[in-house]
Amino acid sequence: MIPVPMLLGCLLLLYLSEFLVWVRPDAWLFRRRGRGWEALTQGGLLSSSRGSLHWVYPMPQLGRAYLVRLSIPAAPSMGSITGRPPVDASFSVPDIERRLQSVESALQPLRWTSWGLWVLLWLVCPLLLQWLGLQPMLGALISGALILMTTNAWILARIHGRLFFESGDERLRLVLSACLSPLAAIRSWDLSQKQALEGFHPLAVAAALPNFRGWEDLAAAEWRRSRYPVIPPLSVGSPITADESSSAEVRGAIETLARQRGIEPASWDTPPKAADPTNTQYCPRCRAQFTGQARACHDCRRTALSPIPQ
Ligand SMILES: [Zn+2]
Repeated sequence: MIPVPMLLGCLLLLYLSEFLVWVRPDAWLFRRRGRGWEALTQGGLLSSSRGSLHWVYPMPQLGRAYLVRLSIPAAPSMGSITGRPPVDASFSVPDIERRLQSVESALQPLRWTSWGLWVLLWLVCPLLLQWLGLQPMLGALISGALILMTTNAWILARIHGRLFFESGDERLRLVLSACLSPLAAIRSWDLSQKQALEGFHPLAVAAALPNFRGWEDLAAAEWRRSRYPVIPPLSVGSPITADESSSAEVRGAIETLARQRGIEPASWDTPPKAADPTNTQYCPRCRAQFTGQARACHDCRRTALSPIPQ
């Protein structure tokens, strides 16, 4: 027979694995950090060209995270719904706040099943095991989990279908995993909200989340990525393409958002101070500094380095 501590240890590891989130390279992960929120685009526990693995707090509600893909321009449907151009609609902070509130309040019923299963698994079962032994504990666990999991799956399918009608595959995956495992059922309250802010620009989402950390650094980096693309234009003076025009619109929207937050975006493009006296050039995209011999920034594949004023 497997010793009880080993069984509980395995259960704890399985539980913690539910709180890992895989993030594709084209998406930003918004997760709770302390009393506020933070955004992650790379790094994490594991990282490859296909994406990166990140953790969230291992508790219902605190483990909530939003995945937002960086798509330019935003989904056209959003523009047509609000009657505004797609870029303006994707940068609307009040719309994001309304969306967050409506999704959160619609999914409130899942809070009770999620916390119910959490209390059953981590409080009731250990106490029953201590006082009454393994058999009564297993009886209470199986009957309690079955009732809560069935209720959870039914509520999840109904509300998710109403909120995210077009995400049928995601709904099926969520409901199936919540039916098969009580650990996944605990997570389904938070995971069902993962796509809630899809279609909005990540920087606008960051501006809408309370106590967000490091907005200006992210905004400046994103602004520079858009201003200095990886592949420089082949010929100066060529007609403006649709991509360049939408990038300019996005930069304009980022600048407007920055000014609303009391930040002056003009400083994002000023040359840096030399970190070392031998550094005479820098990459305008990533701000890495180079000596006079360098011909390109290999990280950004940019051949056009800018001089650092001495
Ligand atoms: Zn660079």
